[in-house]
Amino acid sequence: MVKAVVGACWGDEGKGKITDMLAEDADIVVRFQGGANAGHTIVNDYGKFALHLLPSGSFNQNVTNMIGNGVALDIPQLIKEIEDVVSKGVPRPNIVVSERAQVLMPYHKDFDKFEEERLSDRQFGSTKSGIAPFFSDKFSKIGFQVWELFQEEELMEKIKNVLEIKNLILEHVYHKPAIDADELYKTLRSYGEMIKPYVIDSVKFMHEAVKSGKTILLEGQLGSLKDPDFGIYPMTTSSSTLAGYGAIGACVPPYEIKEIITVVKAYSSAVGAGAFVSEIFGEEADELRRRGGDGGEYGATTGRPRRMGWFDCVASRYGCMVQGTTAVAFTVLDVLGYLDEIPVCVGYEIDGEVTRDFPTTGKLEKAKPVLKVLPGWKTDIRGIKKYEDLPENCRNYIEFIEKELEVPIKIVSNGPARHDIIMK
Ligand code: GDP
Repeated sequence: MVKAVVGACWGDEGKGKITDMLAEDADIVVRFQGGANAGHTIVNDYGKFALHLLPSGSFNQNVTNMIGNGVALDIPQLIKEIEDVVSKGVPRPNIVVSERAQVLMPYHKDFDKFEEERLSDRQFGSTKSGIAPFFSDKFSKIGFQVWELFQEEELMEKIKNVLEIKNLILEHVYHKPAIDADELYKTLRSYGEMIKPYVIDSVKFMHEAVKSGKTILLEGQLGSLKDPDFGIYPMTTSSSTLAGYGAIGACVPPYEIKEIITVVKAYSSAVGAGAFVSEIFGEEADELRRRGGDGGEYGATTGRPRRMGWFDCVASRYGCMVQGTTAVAFTVLDVLGYLDEIPVCVGYEIDGEVTRDFPTTGKLEKAKPVLKVLPGWKTDIRGIKKYEDLPENCRNYIEFIEKELEVPIKIVSNGPARHDIIMK
């Protein structure tokens, strides 16, 4: 049984928490796309953790956690995260890494930074984790798969070939020092030593896992609106954030993905540049940011304050649709307990016309939110375990949004901890 846990909007919906919870009954959790550029915050019996590359099943000894071939593998970062959780008392997680995953190179981070500097006020708001240069290289066929780190002459030869173009760009575009081939060779060989104990033939591993009926969770990073095809291009990420891509990035047959659990947050937040129709500002935004998530809405990777907004039915319905959602996990609902009234965005007004359909980026930038105001419930709903015990206005909020999403909300999350969950 393969299930995907993915995000509906800009990311930070609480996928890590939902995956950590579902991992209690899973055999394998796979990261299938993205890299260390976003974080999952997880609160469980071991404490509070910000994971960037480690799959969120890492706190469950019953789970094998895989870095799939679709991931941008930052080797020192992965090793650092493993040692970090172990040093905080978590039993050493079972980690395996696809031999076909590609390696994030030290220069990918440099190129990310140099390009944002060159763009200056036109920059993308990159986390500077090297993701865009990494995926550009992957599809330009000058990336390095993990198995290549174990070669000697062939590795050196490839390094020299790749550095030819990299050094031309460094010198002439960015005016930065060239990369030395011998030094890079040494670094990559040391990466090889670090990653060797984890490397497996992931194609065979996943094939056998599916065949023997294992429960497999595909863990997405970011969300639909950051997908390079269906998101707010070009203000997106560089690898597909959709459950469908799990078939590629984890190597499972597409028809085996039976459940697509899309995580939807009870209000909106976003990081980076790009259109955000239901965005709010000033004191209203500051208060939601301060109260949001678990200890405020600040990026888990960068610490940047997140942009805040009301729930966006148009974006979230579209986000669920492009994921192929079978069930929604509705998260961070407890945070809204302070509001007398809760505005939600139910339509976009573009050039004088109101639409419920999510448009392409050009039109999106012109969209103004059409807001509907719902009554708040003015109580703390943390600790409630049964759906019927939620205040009426809170259930009305959930059910209003469920209707708008056009897919069933089956899980409601009312606190950051693993078992702050209501099954609907
Ligand atoms: P992810 O990348 O989708 O896993 O999301 P993040 O971890 O970046 O952001 C979600 C934040 O919300 C984290 O700080 C979580 O601990 C927190 N969180 C998740 N679910 C809930 C919830 O139901 N209530 C509250 N208050 N916080 C939550």
